[in-house]
Amino acid sequence: MTGGEPTTIALHTSRSAELYGSALRLLPGGVNSPVRAMRAIGRDPIFIASGRGAIITDADGNGYIDWVSSWGPLIFGHAHPAVVAAVTEAAQRGTTFGAPTEAEVMLAAEVAQRLPSVEMIRMTSSGTEATMSAVRLARAVTGREKILKFAGAYHGHVDGLLAEAGSGLATQGIPASPGVPANTTSATVIVAWNDPQAVKAATERHDLAAILLEPVPANMGVVPPEPGFLDLLRREADEHHALLIFDEVISGFRVARGGAQELYGILPDLTIMGKIVGGGLPAAAYGGPRELMERIAPSGDVYQAGTLSGNPLAVAAALATLERLSDDAYARLAATTQQLAAGLRDAAAAAGRSVQVQSVPGLLTVYFSERPVLDYEAAKSCDSEAYGAWCRALLIRGVYPPASQFEAWFPSLAHTEAHIDRTLEAASEAFAELEAR
Ligand SMILES: *Cc1c(COP(=O)(O)O)cnc(C)c1O
Repeated sequence: MTGGEPTTIALHTSRSAELYGSALRLLPGGVNSPVRAMRAIGRDPIFIASGRGAIITDADGNGYIDWVSSWGPLIFGHAHPAVVAAVTEAAQRGTTFGAPTEAEVMLAAEVAQRLPSVEMIRMTSSGTEATMSAVRLARAVTGREKILKFAGAYHGHVDGLLAEAGSGLATQGIPASPGVPANTTSATVIVAWNDPQAVKAATERHDLAAILLEPVPANMGVVPPEPGFLDLLRREADEHHALLIFDEVISGFRVARGGAQELYGILPDLTIMGKIVGGGLPAAAYGGPRELMERIAPSGDVYQAGTLSGNPLAVAAALATLERLSDDAYARLAATTQQLAAGLRDAAAAAGRSVQVQSVPGLLTVYFSERPVLDYEAAKSCDSEAYGAWCRALLIRGVYPPASQFEAWFPSLAHTEAHIDRTLEAASEAFAELEAR
């Protein structure tokens, strides 16, 4: 990438456009998951043909530095040779048996060894399933039905958790999507993230089965917990005999070797895992201490099952990934994140644009906001239009950012200084282009 490219550069995307045309007739919105459509940044989706390391190549042959990393799973970037080899070898031995395998036991041991609060796990195929199952377990253990969740947090498309806050403090949730029964969201209590008073009011007023949270929310952009907030949640859960459930689908194996529970030193009762725990293949899990997990069938009475759960290909990818995630890897990932965050801050400042770059190791969000973003209300008040224009300007310069103000950038171990430099150069130009509008 050269510094002085004209701002009129356009991507050659005729094949993507053709594919999108066909896709619109065969897939709702042309995609299999909504954010891929890029509507939030005001453009059509880009069809991807291949990926290697930190680079993805689209159907027209354009290359991009990929900061999405499939929304989290690819902590080593695309097609890491060790992961590809592990999956290929596993496939040659058979892709699924519907029976237990040695590698599942090895993966459970690896996870338990990393996450301080986890002794046993049950695998599923998606994070959504893992959340649904952890919530079922929490309800069985406590004999209660209500779940507290935070506004702007995402835990998969579980009916009862597709809920919006009603009016007033600590109210029952209302459906956030047509097709979600009101009686499923009425058992969901929604409060603002980083708001201790709202949490206390909710735990007083409702008999909660669980407090469910992303310990580092990353689905409203990255909004780290304020100091003391996770401690408060742990105390409130204990005092009111509710379980504390960490949804570490994004933070797990990313923000630290042992996830957010290690980073912040707060132990949940149950942990939900996904994304990295599948090594780039479909897998997720939930886990906790033996006394809770043994309530799950067949050792206990709480039913939960899955034809492809613990799938041999996904487990092979997971093992190949986790065994390479050393302390050194986490130090490098943190440094990459830090460097990118600092550079983006500088690039914005140089262009006179007020942004908030919020980050934890392995995650960051560039909020188009004058003030720090501490909750969902603040995230929603960002200038999404400007964010969208900035993203479009990055894409035509070969940098692929998350196509929504409410998503995180996912640095990986495949990103080098050169990738960061090229990204910052593009970011500076894109900020300058915004100011020139
Ligand atoms: C992605 C995500 C999920 C859902 O996982 P899927 O595999 O997409 O069903 C749940 N919780 C969090 C925090 C996530 O980011």
